[in-house]
This record gives sequence, C-alpha cells and structure tokens, in this order.
Amino acid sequence: MSRVALVTGGTRGIGEAISVALKDAGYKVVANYCGNDDAAKAFMDKTGIAAIKFDVSDFEKTKEAISQIESDYGPVDVLVNNAGITRDGTMHRMDADQWDAVIKTNLGSCFNTSRAAIEGMRDRKFGRIVNVGSINGQAGQYGQVNYAAAKSGIHGFTKALAQEGAGKGITVNAIAPGYVDTDMVRAVPEEVLEKIIAKIPVGRLGSPKDIARTVLFLVDDDATFITGSTISVNGGQHMY
Ligand code: NDP
Repeated sequence: MSRVALVTGGTRGIGEAISVALKDAGYKVVANYCGNDDAAKAFMDKTGIAAIKFDVSDFEKTKEAISQIESDYGPVDVLVNNAGITRDGTMHRMDADQWDAVIKTNLGSCFNTSRAAIEGMRDRKFGRIVNVGSINGQAGQYGQVNYAAAKSGIHGFTKALAQEGAGKGITVNAIAPGYVDTDMVRAVPEEVLEKIIAKIPVGRLGSPKDIARTVLFLVDDDATFITGSTISVNGGQHMY
C-alpha cells in the first residue's frame, strides 16, 4: 500500500526536498503551495509530484482542499506541516499585519491541516504528523518576535497533539531546523549570513535534504515509539 503524504509548502526549499524524499521512498505525495505558480509548475515538471494551491492559513479553504485531496488521492496518512513565512521587524516597528500573517501561516496552519486530517487518522488508527519548527522558536531571535512565538507554539502544539494521538496509532513530532540554504535564508543580508555561519559548529548551512531525511525517519510505519519529540537539525548551533 502506498500511503498518501501531504507536504504543506512542498514545492520549494525544505518542503520540495521533503516531497521528493517521500516520493522516492514510495509515498504518494501531494505538495501544497500558496502563491508562486511558476515555482510550482517547475516543481511538477521536474518531479512529477502533484502541486495543489491553497492557503494553509485559511481554515475553510484548507478543510475543503484536504477533503478534495482525500477523494482524489486517498486518505492523508502522513501530514508534514512545513509551510512558513517570515515578516521580520523589531517589536517597536512591527505592525499587527506582520504579527497576524506569521502566526496564522506558521502556527494556525498546523491547526487547520491537522483538524482536517485527524479524524480520518483516528478512524484508521494510523497517522504521522511532522511539524517544522525552528531553532528560532527554541532560542528566540532578534527581530522575529512573531516568528519565534509561532515556532515555539509549534513545539507545544506537537506535545499536546502527541498525547491525544498516542493511543490511536498517531505520532506527532517536530523538527527544529537551524539555518538551511533556501530562498528564506538567501533573503538574509550576506554580512549577517556570514556571522550566522560562523556560529554553526559544523561550519555550513544545512541543506534541505538534511531536514528531509529526518522527516523520513519520523514518518516510517515502524517509528511508533517516537512521539511528542522535537528533533533539532542545526549543525550543533543550539543544543538543549
Ligand atoms: P521557502 O520560503 O523556501 O518556501 C516556503 C514554502 O511555503 C513555499 O512552498 C510557499 O509557497 C509555502 N507557503 C508559504 N505560505 C503559505 C501558505 N499560506 N499556504 C501554503 N503554502 C505556503 O521556505 P523554507 O523552505 O526555507 O522553509 C520551510 C519551513 O522551514 C518553514 O516553516 C520555515 O519557517 C522553516 N524553517 C526554515 C529554516 C531555513 O533556514 N530555511 C530554518 C528553520 C525553519 P509558494 O511557493 O507558493 O510561496
């Protein structure tokens, strides 16, 4: 049986690597995205993976989309909550839109997707949910009160939902990546990035594949005893 895996923000960066790794491992993958049609088309042409456009920060649209995905592809057994954005700014300059966008996209999305998929997972007594947090949710980051709050929220969300799923064959885990070489990090000014890399003990940025292989490990059918965990994948930048 080929399990269906939904990867939010699965067409670019870390999500793209996760989608491809899951496909290569035999999953039937659906990648979600929100606005970048050109990237989604290039992704579909390159990988042959379906890309479905919906905004994971919108509860109703996400519910409708997941219902459609389940009728087109089959029940979602593996859910990777990867979609995320940054809208950086120090608190004294941050406006309410920056706050709302990041909380809704990075944290609200985990509720929206999980709520739509969880009942089926409970009925089938199988589910794998992996939420992509961040080193900056663990350690905080100057200029990212919104992002750090949302990512930190993901870690609490993961532990609570893991407790609810534990008796139902559903595991819920989080990955906290360090700095990974994607568009999100390429947007950081070069001199700032150099300082960041200098603080990474392994001496390099992470690659999207570093995160994808951790997802594969967590969603395996046999990974039944790992739940409520946050796995840091950060080159040793933050240890605790
Ligand atoms: P990218 O900016 O490269 O890609 C983001 C993806 O998320 C895109 O596919 C984008 O779609 C999608 N997306 C954004 N908003 C929405 C939305 N509202 N609905 C649906 N899809 C959406 O990000 P990364 O690959 O760098 O990051 C992936 C995840 O990893 C994020 O959660 C990020 O916070 C986290 N992370 C990243 C780190 C890094 O160093 N890169 C470090 C720690 C955590 P579209 O193409 O349509 O815009």
